[in-house]
Amino acid sequence: MRSIERTTKSFYLFHFKGFRVPFTPMRMPKRMMVPIIKAANELHIKPLLTQDAIVGRALAYCDWAVAKGLLAIRSHVDTSDPSLLPVRAMLEVKNRVAPYLDLQLVAFPQDGVLRTPGGLDNLQRALDLGVDVVGGIPHFERTMGEGAASVKLLCELAAERGLPVDMH
Ligand SMILES: [Zn+2]
Repeated sequence: MRSIERTTKSFYLFHFKGFRVPFTPMRMPKRMMVPIIKAANELHIKPLLTQDAIVGRALAYCDWAVAKGLLAIRSHVDTSDPSLLPVRAMLEVKNRVAPYLDLQLVAFPQDGVLRTPGGLDNLQRALDLGVDVVGGIPHFERTMGEGAASVKLLCELAAERGLPVDMH
């Protein structure tokens, strides 16, 4: 299962360390990056991405926020993965904090709604499950034209459903 959170974490771990082997002065050949990132994802990132783990981290964050006086949060939930695991986890959090915190969720197609295979379907399923806002990321689409098309498409979808839009 691929997810942007995992990809991003590995990206930060390896790319921004200047292609060096961690804790050594050695440089890593570029052709080794893909298998190494894959292995790192499996070993280090995957265990962090269970529903319970996401719920636990989000609840801890909500508690900190409420303790500082926040009464409402808008959070962007990645809809790129067809499993919608982050969506289900954050909807559980929304329910659990509802008595004391207004948690509004944005269906956010982090990899681009048109660029991701099944991206529009995943986003619509997230809205069907109860996500509050239609998100978009036009600068992440493949071309300027597709970026513009994604804005139109997502605004139409929001209008049909009577939902707000949060476009980046
Ligand atoms: Zn936003």
